[in-house]
Parts: sequence; structure tokens; C-alpha cells
Amino acid sequence: MQFTELGLSPELLRAIGEQGYTTPTPIQAQAIPHVLAGRDLEALAQTGTGKTAAFVLPLLQRLTHSTNPAANPADPSTPLQRVTHTAPRVLVLVPTRELAAQVQESVRVYGKHTGIRSLAVYGGVGVNPQIQTLRRGVDILVATPGRLLDHLSQRTVDLSKVQTLVLDEADRMFDMGFINDIRKIIQRLPKQRQNLLFSATFAPEVRELAHAILNNPALVEVARRNAPAELVAQSVIRVDQAQKKDVLLHLFQAHGWHQVLVFCRTKHGADALSKKLDQSGIRSAALHGNKSQNARTRALADFKSGKIAALVATDIAARGIDIDSLPRVVNFELPHVPEDYIHRIGRTGRAGSSGEALSLVSIDERIQLRDIERLLKRELDTSILPGFEPQQTRPSPAPSTRSPGHKPASSNNRPGRSATNRSSNRGAGGGANGGASERNYGPRTPRSGGGRDAKPAQRPR
Ligand code: AMP
Repeated sequence: MQFTELGLSPELLRAIGEQGYTTPTPIQAQAIPHVLAGRDLEALAQTGTGKTAAFVLPLLQRLTHSTNPAANPADPSTPLQRVTHTAPRVLVLVPTRELAAQVQESVRVYGKHTGIRSLAVYGGVGVNPQIQTLRRGVDILVATPGRLLDHLSQRTVDLSKVQTLVLDEADRMFDMGFINDIRKIIQRLPKQRQNLLFSATFAPEVRELAHAILNNPALVEVARRNAPAELVAQSVIRVDQAQKKDVLLHLFQAHGWHQVLVFCRTKHGADALSKKLDQSGIRSAALHGNKSQNARTRALADFKSGKIAALVATDIAARGIDIDSLPRVVNFELPHVPEDYIHRIGRTGRAGSSGEALSLVSIDERIQLRDIERLLKRELDTSILPGFEPQQTRPSPAPSTRSPGHKPASSNNRPGRSATNRSSNRGAGGGANGGASERNYGPRTPRSGGGRDAKPAQRPR
């Protein structure tokens, strides 16, 4: 199928062509006709599937071709209308600032020839420029729930003209505890409207929300375009926690890596690692929730342009990062939630390009590794790096990453899930002191100078 077969207007087809796209992705091919027809939609689609254009394109068309209620928005021959409204007619709710900025950028790019005005409102940046733009008039408003509620309470936004509500990454909204904010916002919208809900999972709470707000929705479900098994080469290097920084540095230096997204579990850990890389001559920046929005935007821009080689991020901060063909993701630490591993490695191998995901795994992380492999339904290739053979034969007695009361970075930001819940299935297969097989690690050998870096390791299971 070609984009030209979807009944999109010439202004949109021109913008799509300028992006170099000719063929709609499956979610676009399935969703666009329903959205154009004004139907509600429940879509199971993850980041990387082209879901943003799946709602942005038809909504742009509806806005530009349906100011006359008698006009058929699905008929691109309807003349393009110049809009004169000031209050937004489309509201897109997203969980993170980065995603808000990226969705609005998509609106700008695809709507370039339509005259549609858009704005992203999110926290961490000044409110006044947002208020001024809202006053001048906005057609599509992309917002994170918190900042939108601020605008509502200050009466700086008018949601009474909203014709379409989009809930993007609805599952993440729940994870991040936004559900009550969303309910408050929905109460302020006209009852009569189109609703589109996109989610990577249909967890029970997402289904409940879908039933509450969607009216006879069309259902669209697509397989992940960048299914990890197909496009991302995944492997594990076993290493002691204390050696991880040196191993990472070695890999950067030995392979001349660039554009590597490195995941840490904590903000503090991300800062410390970024500093160490920088001091060792690998240009790097940390991306996490304590950074100002300007610092985050700058870090992302520098990473995209190749100015910095490593972006060291926490799970939440990296959510929604949209970089075409990111070559490599490194898990400096494994996430507590196995699904987060899938989200992390989904940052690479996107849009059909191949990618590599490498995890540095210490003996204290064997349970997380086991849970991830269960989710993937396969074991990951495991090796050790000559010169960095793990010496630790037993898990740490009081692992710093799991000490009582310690909250991993991701759970700090996700009131919906507790650290206790996450580790509730830890029991089987990994006793606190590890099994005899944990002693399979060989003695320390001298650091090798060249050749292939890693060699297969025996698997301590
Ligand atoms: P999304 O799932 O919306 O985050 O999009 C993932 C990536 O796919 C983005 O970099 C888009 O620019 C890109 N993309 C969207 N639609 C298409 C298309 N029809 N063909 C090729 N790439 C696309």
C-alpha cells in the first residue's frame, strides 16, 4: 500500500514525501481510515511502529478539511480551510516531556503545509511563553498531564472546543501515576468528542480506562516493528560490579563507539558514570529527571548530532527518545522490571535498521537476567572480557542496589508499581547466596591486548 491510497490531502502527502516515506507502516495503514472517518480507536502499538503519524496525519486532515460540518474530512478534494479558532480542537496527552516535544515536532513536520498551529506544554520550562502561544491560538495541543492541570487551574487554557482527545502511551500514564490527573482533565472536555487511545500493552487498568472513555472503538493491533529478536543483536558480558566502568571505557576505546545510549538504574549512577566517561575522554552527558528541561534538550541534540558519544540515561528519562538508527544500547545495569529491558533495547534497531544491545551483568543481577530471559523466552549469548574476568563468586551480602528502603530510579517515578511487587517472583532458581555453579568463574587472567574482546562464559544459573 502507498500513502496516496489512504485518501490524505495533497498538503499532507507533500510533507510525507519530504520525509522520504512512501509506504505507511501497518499501524498507519490500519488506523488512518478509522481516524479520518471520525471513529474512536483503541490501538495496541509501541514506540517505533510509526504510531505518532498514525494519529497526527488523519487529525491534521480533519482539522484542515472539516471546518465546514457538511464537508467530508475523508475527501481530500474538500478545499483547505484557513482556521480562525483560538482554543485547541485536538488534545494529545502524553506521559513525558520528551514525548510531548517529539509529538509536537511530528505535528509541525507533517502539518508544515497546512497552517495548523500546535504547541507542546510540559513542566520544567517557563510557563509564560506557553501562555502567550495559547493566547495567540493553537489547533493541536500536546501536553503532559501535570502542566496542563496547572494551565487549567490558572485558566490559561480553554479545553471547551476539543473535538478529539488522544491518549498516547496510556500504559505509561498508569505506570507513572497520572490516571487521576487524566480523569480530571477528561472532565473538562466536551462530552461529544472523538477519542483515540494508544498503548503498548492492554493491561487490565488500560482496558478499564478504554471502556470508560471510548465509544464503540475500532480495534487496531500491530506487532512491534522492531521486534527485539529480529533486529537487535543482544548479548551479555559478565563482569564484577566494581569493574563495570572500566569495562565500558575499554569497549568505547577499543571499538571507537559513538552514539551509545547507556542505561543506569539511578540518577546518581547516571551522573557518576557520565562524569567518569567524560574524564576519560569519551564525550558524554547524563539524561535523567533531575536535569532541567533545557539541559535535557541540549543533551539529546548533542547526542543526535554526534557531538557526544554516550548518553547515560535512566529508564524514565529515555522513554520516548526518538533517534533513527541508534546503533547501540548498553545496559550498564539491568532494570528491575524485565519489560523495561524490552523498552530499553527498543531504542535501537528501529525502522528496519539493525542494532546491538549489550548488557554488563554482575553476579548480583542474575535474578534480573533470569527474568529477562524468561520474558524473551531464550537465553542471551554470554561472554567474559579477557582482563576483566569476574572475581566475585557470590552475590554481595547486602547489595547496594537492593538494600531495604532503596528505590530504583524507575520506581521513584512510578508510584503504580512498588519495588516489592517487582521482586515478588525472585524466589525460584536463585538463592540469596547463589548456587555452587556461581563458582564457575575462572581465575583472573592478564588483560589481553587485542583480538576479539569477549569470549564465551560458563553460565552461572
Ligand atoms: P513512532 O512509532 O511514531 O515513534 O515512529 C518511529 C519512527 O518511524 C520515527 O522515527 C518516524 O519518523 C518513523 N516513521 C514513521 N512513519 C514512517 C513510515 N511510513 N515509513 C518509515 N518511517 C516512518
